[in-house]
Amino acid sequence: MYDNILIRYGEIGLKGKNQKDFLHRLVKNIKMRIKGIGNDETKVVLERGRVFVVINGQDPEIFYKALGTIFGILSFSPVRKVGLDLDEINKAALEEFKSLGEMPENFKVNARRSFKLFPLDSIELQREVGHYILVNTPGLKVDVHNPKAEVWVEVREEAAYVYSKKINGIGGLPIGTGGKAMLLLSGGIDSPVAGWMTMRRGLEIEAVYFHSHPYTSEKAKEKVLDLARVLAEYSGKIKVHIVPFTQIQEAISAKCFESLWITIMRRFMMRISERIAEQQGMLALATGESLGQVASQTVESMHAITGVINTPVIRPLVCMDKREIIDVSEKIGTYEISIRPFIDCCTVFLPKAPKTKPKREACEKAEKYLDIEALVQKAIDDTEVVIVKKG
Ligand code: ATP
Ligand code: MG
Repeated sequence: MYDNILIRYGEIGLKGKNQKDFLHRLVKNIKMRIKGIGNDETKVVLERGRVFVVINGQDPEIFYKALGTIFGILSFSPVRKVGLDLDEINKAALEEFKSLGEMPENFKVNARRSFKLFPLDSIELQREVGHYILVNTPGLKVDVHNPKAEVWVEVREEAAYVYSKKINGIGGLPIGTGGKAMLLLSGGIDSPVAGWMTMRRGLEIEAVYFHSHPYTSEKAKEKVLDLARVLAEYSGKIKVHIVPFTQIQEAISAKCFESLWITIMRRFMMRISERIAEQQGMLALATGESLGQVASQTVESMHAITGVINTPVIRPLVCMDKREIIDVSEKIGTYEISIRPFIDCCTVFLPKAPKTKPKREACEKAEKYLDIEALVQKAIDDTEVVIVKKG
């Protein structure tokens, strides 16, 4: 029977106020995410720098899925909490060992005594508990170098904790510790991964999607909302701003050199995203750009595109290989949605020979024939907002 789930968090170097913010936010996020999963007595507590989910004997596994989607958690373990008494510790350790299922060939006990008034030190505790498990389990051996199973005992001032299972979390920093960013979310593979990585560094995100009705279908929009729904599994919910982009694309293709279409389109995306981000009190944008991946993702192109805004752009994928990006997208659950075959707005107005080294000046010149302010304002006025929540 498990009393608690012990939550481990990382980020060496977090100190003072940062550490306090981190912990309080982590506890708050865990509370929010496990709401409705356990019974009424389920609690999340912060005790001497340790975070526990108090489960009082409920099946710990019902919480695993939720805990596996909370940023800031390095790993977690279902633990048995017992009194500071060797007999109790031994019994809990044996029970824990038996819960591993099929008997392993050999095992090892790890003990840590942080409460120095406990009469046995770590080494003695290890030996005592190991011995107790051995004599109660015929045929079992100890192997301290290459154990097939391990049991941990931690003796702290308030109680002793016994566990043997360690489940990996997703690491990072709790959402909300790092401010907010506006993610430019397309239906592709990259931008959802970029959003996930941005959230993992503690940022809350909203998303903006440029929709080119009727060139891109309702299905394309649904796809983006489905991607946002997967991201919401990690954050609780995500606000998606759907910006009508057709008029802008038609104006660009009517008035500008074909080779600059993509760059100018992107400049409009940046302007509009920055404007909506500002309205929402956000100080950064985030994109799925990765250097060299396509013609529009050269440093020259980034230079030309970001020339129209003053807001920092977070590009978590900038130096990642496609294979690495796909690996993350498979892990976080966006890949299957991203590969659904709906065209995005950039493929509609794809020039035959896009400039790979566009210049700011050339873009500025070409944009002279457009009423930038009116186009931007109209798109923002007609933006639709959808809030997607975790399933
Ligand atoms: P992705 O897989 O994210 O679509 P990509 O490799 O297709 O990226 P581009 O099409 O060059 O790359 O887009 C670069 C970035 O611009 C995207 O990662 C995304 O952040 C943003 N972007 C592109 N199209 C849209 C769109 N229709 N709505 C919102 N953002 C977009
Ligand atoms: Mg794309």
